Amino acid sequence: MDTHRLRNLDRPDILRAKLEREGVQRTTLSFYRYVRLKEVETLRHELYQEWVALGVLGRVYISQEGINAQVSLPTANLAAFRAHLDRREAFADVPWKIAVEDDGKSFLKLAIKVKKKIVADGLADDAFDVTDVGEHLDAATFNRKMEEGALVVDMRNNYECLIGHFEGAYLPKADTFRGAIEEVKEVMKAKKDAEVLLYCTGGIRCEKASAYLKHEGFTNVSQLHGGIIDYARQLKAEGLKSKYLGQNFVFDERLAERITDDVVSTCMQCGTKSDRITNCHEATCNMLLVQCEACATKYADCCSPSCREIHQLPIDQQRTWRKGRSTRSTKTKAINDPEGLRRRIREEVELLALNGTLHPELTSIIHREQTSA
Ligand SMILES: [Zn+2]
Ligand SMILES: [Zn+2]
Repeated sequence: MDTHRLRNLDRPDILRAKLEREGVQRTTLSFYRYVRLKEVETLRHELYQEWVALGVLGRVYISQEGINAQVSLPTANLAAFRAHLDRREAFADVPWKIAVEDDGKSFLKLAIKVKKKIVADGLADDAFDVTDVGEHLDAATFNRKMEEGALVVDMRNNYECLIGHFEGAYLPKADTFRGAIEEVKEVMKAKKDAEVLLYCTGGIRCEKASAYLKHEGFTNVSQLHGGIIDYARQLKAEGLKSKYLGQNFVFDERLAERITDDVVSTCMQCGTKSDRITNCHEATCNMLLVQCEACATKYADCCSPSCREIHQLPIDQQRTWRKGRSTRSTKTKAINDPEGLRRRIREEVELLALNGTLHPELTSIIHREQTSA
């Protein structure tokens, strides 16, 4: 088998255009399972071939400990995809979570990656029993226990909690799973016998988090079955009232799906109420931020005047400027300190007024382009 062909190396803009032209209805869904898998590399190539044939796009991690998949596929192929999964013993009857808000453009290509773990959790799994998980609760039970006064803990990272979360939940400040779980352990250490309800996006992180907290002596740990994604589905199906407020952060092109109309966050640039989540459009920055429409216009979809200055240059000059610069992600930088971002913006505005530029090195780039033109 020529495994080099089993990847898609097209550029994002080409992939996006292809998806626009496709014109079929797509469904976005996710699933995971902790299950012993053998010959993972071979399995990866087989899955890739089968799924490409069904028009599946998405991000999939497989490892010896299981599978974690977020995909979109033509709605017409859902039954065939189900059959493909069920045919393999390891994936038979794996529960799906179907996204409630879906424009069909959640993923641009299919990427199946072989990993050491299906969630990069940073935990030493051999130090505790990963199968001793908390009780799984459906949406109605989760709501009832919240009303009875259980402690609710968000097991996602800081940037995910930002634009939506359960009412009154503890929201970790950490930006990694490992950091969040250590933080929760520390903050709740005096409440080890309290009823604790965990939740995350699709349920997978709570599997590890609940087992870990039980290992650490917490006696009454439960978790939201299927995560926020399935909670939203159950709300609709059963007409329940949502105790989750705002949007659910998702790891695809959509960035978020709306659960309720509540706006729980503010624009990081001006402080007005907003839950419009986006990335800075200056490619080397790409910082994740909450940005209201007015600020998006004002800063040309960028996080700051200095990124805006680059973003508004002709594309050739942007490329010259980027040469040799790292594209290190700054995406979580302003999350815990939006005031820091606002301070930086104020300083940049002053400098810009003074010097006419925030990037003096641009003079030579622009000059070079002009003389060579
Ligand atoms: Zn704003
Ligand atoms: Zn930026």
